[in-house]
Amino acid sequence: MCKRERTLGSENPAELQAEITRLRAELGAYRQALSRPFPVAILHWPADELDELLASYPSLSAEYPSHAAHLATIEASLRELSASGTPNLGIVTGTVPSYEAFAASEATSPSDPTLLPQYATTLAARGRAVAWPPERAAQCWCASGKTYGACHGAGA
Ligand SMILES: [Zn+2]
Repeated sequence: MCKRERTLGSENPAELQAEITRLRAELGAYRQALSRPFPVAILHWPADELDELLASYPSLSAEYPSHAAHLATIEASLRELSASGTPNLGIVTGTVPSYEAFAASEATSPSDPTLLPQYATTLAARGRAVAWPPERAAQCWCASGKTYGACHGAGA
């Protein structure tokens, strides 16, 4: 498993403080963005990030029984939102360090599952959402390398 730079994983209080300061600075831009429409976004964890998330916060396993189930739930949720007439849908991709920083900025634990949709909304408000659905011939949002039509868009 590759070791990468992790601001919050370093357990260095100065680095954590710097990350929180950076997030607070972003908050101004975020609040401005909130006044503009941004997509209703569903949170997507890539496989390696989900592994790391569940290793660090096992209680979140109830939300994510497996990576394949997680991906299927994302697609199903978006189709349901679309069918119910919700416009402007998107997917945001989570990373464990940014999720931990978000939890710290909210003064709560990353283990709290109610934080997950708030994190998704925050990423969307920061302009991080990728519009859903992709074109059928475009790459699937899950990064499988297959086209959307041959992957999660099959049967859409
Ligand atoms: Zn896919």
